[in-house]
Amino acid sequence: LTGLALYALDAWRRSLRKLAAKRTIEIRGDEVIDGVEGLIGNTPLIRIKSLSDALGVEILGKCEYMNPFGSVKDRVSLKIIQQAEEDGLIHPHTGSCIFEGTSGSTGISIAGIARARGYKAHIVLPDDVAKEKVKMLQVLGAEVEPVRPVSIVDPSHYVNLARRRALEFGKRTVVSQRSGDTPTDTPRVSTPAMIAAGGKNAPDLLVTSNTPAPSRPATPTTEKPPPDLDGVSGRLGYRDPPRGLFADQFENMSNLVAHQEGTAVEIWKQTAGRVDGFVSGAGTGGTIAGVGRYLKEKTAGRCDIVLSDPQGSGLYHKVHDGVMYAETEAEGKRRRYQVDTIVEGIGLNRITRNLSKALPIIDNAFRVTDAEAVAMSRHLAVQDGLFLGSSSAVNLVASVRLARSWGRKGRGRRIVTILCDSGARHVSRFWNDEYLEKAGIPISSSINFLFEEAV
Ligand code: PMP
Repeated sequence: LTGLALYALDAWRRSLRKLAAKRTIEIRGDEVIDGVEGLIGNTPLIRIKSLSDALGVEILGKCEYMNPFGSVKDRVSLKIIQQAEEDGLIHPHTGSCIFEGTSGSTGISIAGIARARGYKAHIVLPDDVAKEKVKMLQVLGAEVEPVRPVSIVDPSHYVNLARRRALEFGKRTVVSQRSGDTPTDTPRVSTPAMIAAGGKNAPDLLVTSNTPAPSRPATPTTEKPPPDLDGVSGRLGYRDPPRGLFADQFENMSNLVAHQEGTAVEIWKQTAGRVDGFVSGAGTGGTIAGVGRYLKEKTAGRCDIVLSDPQGSGLYHKVHDGVMYAETEAEGKRRRYQVDTIVEGIGLNRITRNLSKALPIIDNAFRVTDAEAVAMSRHLAVQDGLFLGSSSAVNLVASVRLARSWGRKGRGRRIVTILCDSGARHVSRFWNDEYLEKAGIPISSSINFLFEEAV
């Protein structure tokens, strides 16, 4: 009977939490916000004066860097976690852990939201990302695992390793041993079909990827979960065993949904439906797929959806030639997996599930070099007082190219792009002149080249 009462109490608390989460997303402004998640989304849209005035085309930036954990990825991470909670895959305050492979921003968002909601976070990332990102992850209490940057086809690539860590955690949760069942070496891994079928027989581990889970050593573990000393778990831990969630931003469609239901709707309201172009890079493809599809539909196809692609990424050629090539000066056109650029967060040499939804609606793509992104970032700081990260600079170079490509008929039109994160995240690399000089990247604050090139 006590068990039943505790179960009912737990279920009640969970439904209250769900309701609270839903409410806090919608209120903003002159009310008190209940917890940090309520600060996610509803970001302002800014008219970038220097560019708009020079072009006669309005260039509007969606200030995603104003999200509480500093980037566009806050929305996506919250949606992924909320969806997993709704599906009954993870429960707060039970020691459950969220795993992700990320070049930084998503990890920071997941780490922060995890803390706010009562989860642990384990983040695997390439060891060459700006060190301020690693610092932030540590501050937010995440377990950080830096790995050598390697190709995505390598099992030690950060995404593959994060998936493996999640599987290992699923095994270590010793669900069955705790509850007296026969120990099993096979963690229950959900397929997208199982997820779609709902959370009744919720698996211990969510793997939304299409990629088969890597095989693991067959030795069964008798290892007990470590005692929880950091206060995240244990509060309701009498019943719920800790569970692992592989967030899997590349393949998890909650990513696209977060943008379709959030970013896109906000842009539509903020522009009162007057938007002629949308420019975005692709790191997972979630932004361009979610926002792009919404705007295409709402404008009956009139809004141009344009991809901004940093050097070293293969998507520019995918859009123009239908074949994915990454270009490097030394090697020319070649299929490569690693994206070779100073820009962090965007560029892809493979088609993720999220990106696949964007490909049919992308009208054009512009390629942006590291030097061009650097020049744009310095121009914006000096002319507009905007201190932005590298992917925002790439987006703005591409926005200017799109505006100029319209010629005279573009006068008075509007382009919306994403200001993904702030320059504060990029002080040690993109905003470090010494670093850039060593890397042979020219530094200028002039964007005259954009107004001189032929269109
Ligand atoms: N900018 C930054 C700084 C990012 O971290 C990301 C995500 N990797 C993006 C842009 C691109 O967004 P998306 O993953 O939606 O393609």
